[in-house]
Amino acid sequence: MRQSILALAAALCATFASAATPTKDTSAWWGHVRVLASDEFQGRLTGSPGYRAAAEYVAKRFAAAGLKPAGDAGYFQHVDLVVQTIHTDASHVRLTRPGAEPLEVSDRVVLSPSVLQRPDVTAPLVFAGYGLHLPEAGYDDFDGLDVRGAVVVLLVGGPESLSGAQRAHAYAENLARHLEDAGAAGVIQLTAPRNREVPWARQKAAGTMPGMVLAEPALRRFRAPAFHAAFDESRAEALFEGSGHTFAELAALAEAHRPLPRFPLAVGLAAHVEASLAEARADNVVAELPGRDPSLRAEAVVLSAHLDHLGTGAPDHGDGIFRGAMDDASGVATLLEVASRLRARHAHPRRSLLFLAVCGEEKGLLGSRYFAAHPTRHTGRIVADINSDMFLPLYPLKRLIGFGADESTLGDDVRSLGAALGIELVPDPQPDHLVFVRSDQYNFVRHGVPAIMLMMSPHPGTAEEQALTDWFARRYHAQADNLDQPVDLEAADAYTDLVAALALRVADARGVPHWRPDSFFARFASQPLR
Ligand SMILES: [Zn+2]
Repeated sequence: MRQSILALAAALCATFASAATPTKDTSAWWGHVRVLASDEFQGRLTGSPGYRAAAEYVAKRFAAAGLKPAGDAGYFQHVDLVVQTIHTDASHVRLTRPGAEPLEVSDRVVLSPSVLQRPDVTAPLVFAGYGLHLPEAGYDDFDGLDVRGAVVVLLVGGPESLSGAQRAHAYAENLARHLEDAGAAGVIQLTAPRNREVPWARQKAAGTMPGMVLAEPALRRFRAPAFHAAFDESRAEALFEGSGHTFAELAALAEAHRPLPRFPLAVGLAAHVEASLAEARADNVVAELPGRDPSLRAEAVVLSAHLDHLGTGAPDHGDGIFRGAMDDASGVATLLEVASRLRARHAHPRRSLLFLAVCGEEKGLLGSRYFAAHPTRHTGRIVADINSDMFLPLYPLKRLIGFGADESTLGDDVRSLGAALGIELVPDPQPDHLVFVRSDQYNFVRHGVPAIMLMMSPHPGTAEEQALTDWFARRYHAQADNLDQPVDLEAADAYTDLVAALALRVADARGVPHWRPDSFFARFASQPLR
């Protein structure tokens, strides 16, 4: 009989995991993945009937696990959205130069569907280096640069002196706020060739899908409409013509993390963007296990995962449904299993637990952004977020990456639980990918709440590493993230036990988790974002 890892870890008398090795027919966790990734839910696109049906399934399972409704309407928190569809055929983008014919560059840009676009923009262009506005770190690419009425051209990256987290935060938060304060008309983003993550063609294809923003303007990244586009770097020299600089020279500096010059460009922009807007609504699903300790139950630990995925598209080695079995049906299945395992062993922690399945992650972390700004319960008393997004049980659970583990005491909690289970917490092998600020936990971080996201990690130099590489190449955001893929169900159970153990440990601890004093993110606990 296989002993539950949690029983080993915490010397608890009850075991969570079933005795026999689970199969796709016997694993309760897989059973939830199978339902969430089924035809019925049609890829769970935020705002679609399929998403709504998936949300109802999750609410029913929360109820069956004895959790209390904790939304605004039963288990649901309505999130109002605006859907933007850009009509590229009816839009145009041109570069202008006095005394010369305008240069049509519409086929070199992707107009961002996730920023509400201004219909017409005629503006000078200003190159703002990396476009990083971080006065809190003593760095400002906009210092002394006049961008009023201009469209700012920037090259994504940053100097060595800034951490990846600082850069990511500057792009995710500070840039939009600063451009709006400075009266700029918009942004054109460039990527140095060696820093590109997604091939240009894929970025171009993604730009044809409708985008979404929150209906509440104060919660948007760009609160007012703006010109917002990415520019094909392989044909970017036209932007720099007559400026005394070349894109090749600037890209080489960016690839070496060197300082970039800032200067007005000789060409201007004339754009017309044709877009249609529609209203939509989707729901976060929220459930609560109230805490047992009267002095602590006002505080809550959030367990989160995203319920939405990409919906449907043209068939591509599949039937047209983006099932998102790992992204992130797997994380929602973990929430449902944690709830039912806690119930099975009558667990009743001192602080409250909030189970949160959010919408709109794939559209820009929208559901979690809304919840973190408008919590349905425990306002100002949420003490931690433990997020599960694509933890990828492709091999046995021996190593875990904890995104954010070095930022707060939550890393210590995972380390000590893991040590008892033979699970090692390993460093993030790709810190430049900035995963910590790219999933839902970041919206809690922005509000000062310590957070962590756990992902399984392969043994270096083994077939596990190849399995992970292959998964991203073949299945990530593809229709092959389906129910036919190989999954290590024991690892999924072990991961789910670990999340349950972590939630109980944090909810029962004497003190609440806190940021390390040297963490960049510690500032949000004392300086609320505006
Ligand atoms: Zn995704």
